[in-house]
Amino acid sequence: MDSSTAFFAASLMMLANGTVLGFMHGDLPASLRPASRSWQSGTLLVACGCALFAIQPLVPLAVSVTVSNGLILLGLTAYCRSLYSFYERKPGVWLPLPAVLGTLGVFWFSAIQPNTEIRIIIISPAWLALMGNSALILKRGAGRDDAMSRRMLFAIFASVFLFTIVRLLHYLSLGMATNFSIADDASWMNLATPMLAAILPVIGTTAFVLMCSERIRRQWERAASTDYLTDLPNRRTLTAAGTERCKAARAQDESFAIAVVDIDSFKAINDRHGHDVGDIALKHVGARLKSATRGVDLVARTGGEEFVVLFDRVEPDQVEAAAERLRAAVRAHPFAAGTVKISITVSVGVAICRGEDADFNALLRRADEALYAAKSAGRNQVKLAA
Ligand code: GH3
Ligand code: MG
Ligand code: MG
Repeated sequence: MDSSTAFFAASLMMLANGTVLGFMHGDLPASLRPASRSWQSGTLLVACGCALFAIQPLVPLAVSVTVSNGLILLGLTAYCRSLYSFYERKPGVWLPLPAVLGTLGVFWFSAIQPNTEIRIIIISPAWLALMGNSALILKRGAGRDDAMSRRMLFAIFASVFLFTIVRLLHYLSLGMATNFSIADDASWMNLATPMLAAILPVIGTTAFVLMCSERIRRQWERAASTDYLTDLPNRRTLTAAGTERCKAARAQDESFAIAVVDIDSFKAINDRHGHDVGDIALKHVGARLKSATRGVDLVARTGGEEFVVLFDRVEPDQVEAAAERLRAAVRAHPFAAGTVKISITVSVGVAICRGEDADFNALLRRADEALYAAKSAGRNQVKLAA
């Protein structure tokens, strides 16, 4: 296969990939569409750039070289932009710079002062800047997810980055004539270039699509396990964790306790200050409860103005004090709604897991009874289940 055919075959594969991504676009959630749109543009731009290399003999060299390099650089810029958007980051104003400078340089050294060597010297750093930046964005993405697809795409950008350096060194070592073309068969590198150029739009697009599907899976998982208002685990997560810890505590003969926390007279806060202020109060209480627990404890919002705390590995004689810390943490910090300060108190019912508790729900019922006793006794207090 000659390198023109290779460029042509590569651009067809890229076009097919870009088109598939275009069809998928509508299935993606709105938050991922800008990233997917940019990635698709990147793939189509690189495909057009490579197609132009394939027909280089039919077009004046200065035109084909400038336009195809320009398109490929714009494509790499679009990939970079796509990754910024994927990780909800803002690109710097310099982002188009490598494409602009690279294209101007290629134009100058093909139309005004033809020199293949300088062209390659100019274009390579522009590629490296864009691909290096994309790789860095993906590396930083590790803080947000640990997806295999993200690591795969990072490896692809890193490989093409290294290949670009090898390619530059290779062409420099050749001592090219001014009419040297990267689209003829003078060097094996001319054949390798389109194949490697296809890696990003073809395998890279697959990795990008997998990254999108992984993001959607995580979002659904999060939505199903978290309370939307307070961002705390919801009842479903609590039941799973509580059942698990109940079993583990029994098997390992460890102590395990729970506290059911209910805001006192919350209806009055809603009635006096409005439902929106009530919502902020719920977030405030959630944060206060979290601040009064250890990392191993779990604080969940189970509905309305009720929270449940799981105390892991706590000595039975420490349970009441731990629950008292929850109550005090809420009481000590009045909640500020604009200029008004609203005092909030909670009542707490505590139960320690015992052999006769059939399951987590039985434990929860005992804690609920204790909560009821705390309310009846005048609120703003802790009661331990019998
Ligand atoms: P008690 O001291 O006996 O617990 O009294 P209370 O007023 O806290 O309890 P009650 O069950 O009478 O009222 C709970 C209120 O919580 C009623 C309901 O409108 C409100 N509520 C439940 N969920 C939400 C929510 O998501 N946001 C807001 N703002 N209010 C909520
Ligand atoms: Mg209440
Ligand atoms: Mg309640």
